[in-house]
Amino acid sequence: MTARILVVDDIPANVKVLEARLIAEYFEVLTAGDGFQALSICDRTQVDLILLDIMMPGMDGFEVCERLKANPRTTHIPVVMVTALDQPSDRVRGLKAGADDFLTKPVNDLQLVSRVKSLLRLKTLSDELRVRAGAEHPIADATRLGEGRVEEAAQILLVDPRASSQERMIKALKPVADVVSMSDPQAAVFEAAESPFDLVIVNGNLDGYDPLRLCSQLRSLERTRFIPLLLITEQGEEDLIIRALDLGVNDYIVRPLDPNELVARAVTQIRRKRYADRLRNSMKQSFEMAVTDPLTGLNNRRYLDNHLKHLFNRAAARGRPLSVCMTDIDRFKSVNDTYGHDAGDEVLKEFAARIRASVRGADLACRFGGEEFVVVMPDMAKDIAERLRATIEDRPFSLGAGQPAITLTASMGIASNLAGAETPEQLLKQADQALYTAKHNGRNRVVAAAA
Ligand code: GH3
Ligand code: MG
Ligand code: MG
Repeated sequence: MTARILVVDDIPANVKVLEARLIAEYFEVLTAGDGFQALSICDRTQVDLILLDIMMPGMDGFEVCERLKANPRTTHIPVVMVTALDQPSDRVRGLKAGADDFLTKPVNDLQLVSRVKSLLRLKTLSDELRVRAGAEHPIADATRLGEGRVEEAAQILLVDPRASSQERMIKALKPVADVVSMSDPQAAVFEAAESPFDLVIVNGNLDGYDPLRLCSQLRSLERTRFIPLLLITEQGEEDLIIRALDLGVNDYIVRPLDPNELVARAVTQIRRKRYADRLRNSMKQSFEMAVTDPLTGLNNRRYLDNHLKHLFNRAAARGRPLSVCMTDIDRFKSVNDTYGHDAGDEVLKEFAARIRASVRGADLACRFGGEEFVVVMPDMAKDIAERLRATIEDRPFSLGAGQPAITLTASMGIASNLAGAETPEQLLKQADQALYTAKHNGRNRVVAAAA
């Protein structure tokens, strides 16, 4: 993993130690002796992660962190605060300033490397999501991490066999979350897959059950793999922590539990998850937009071209029929010419709605272009096409407010793989030729391609 890491500390010897350790892991290292220098480096160059000292003259680490997180250009850079004072109150203040993690001086090598790597993995992932969601430009990015406040009550699943410890955590988390607590780890996996949780907190001591087994199950199940995991460990359980982070556990807390730290870490994870959820949704939305015709809401031609190949090959492999019905509104141009383009649009929308009402779940309906539509069906198309033709002719189309309703008809050409089409292109072409024949023979009819 190559990445550029910025080390910020006012004591040169501290910088040197971290720098040497990171270079040994093949990271590229930049250094800064104070907060101002750090901010200016982040402004000028691409930085992937920051190790930030807290006590510095001029501007302390909390303020540097706040400024980084408030700036859209730097808000996505993970910040690890490196502190000499292992005070829970410091950690809470750091988390409030937006810090992503902490390391205590003297910095333990294993912890340094495992935390840095796990944060970099997360950053790579969310950078990728952001680019795909089209949110890579700060201005367009309305879903910034810092804006992911925990407004609606969060849902937390707590897996902990001890009632007293459950009670303490529920009490601490009450202001920010509804907590469901369970003592049986296996039952907890089912529960997590069933309900939408924002966070799972796992007690590292599960009475003989391996907590990492639970974490890895949650990581591998489709329905739970995006839920953040927070592990509660005892002092000295370093190996457990490192393996947990490797498995994809997002964060850990060492006992004795400080309620403020628990809340701060839980909120950080929940906020991050909601941010990632929003990115994923907006990605899904832009994907849907790319394959949807905006006027009618049907799939567009791009989607048809891609999907028809897939449907055609699958039908061929199984020796199943696949048919295409291509339909075109008769004398549609005269609707536009007589009543205007908006009235024409109304007709197209209503036409698409009637197609949607005629097709069945397994059929694929698309706007092919203009006033031409295509329906792909996993059987013979004749009956459906005839039904669709009738629903067009039988009921007049309304043209919008203040306009009359008019009667329209449509012509259809159908073709099937069983009737000889050997490729998806041929299938469409034969349907198109049959449509042409339907028009030529007087319109308002269904014509099947000759076998
Ligand atoms: P035929 O029975 O031979 O199909 O005659 P037609 O008039 O339906 O066919 P033609 O291809 O001559 O005209 C199609 C018209 O559809 C021309 C075009 O302006 C119109 N059209 C294409 N897309 C849209 C659209 O999105 N909205 C509107 N209102 N009209 C459209
Ligand atoms: Mg037409
Ligand atoms: Mg046409």
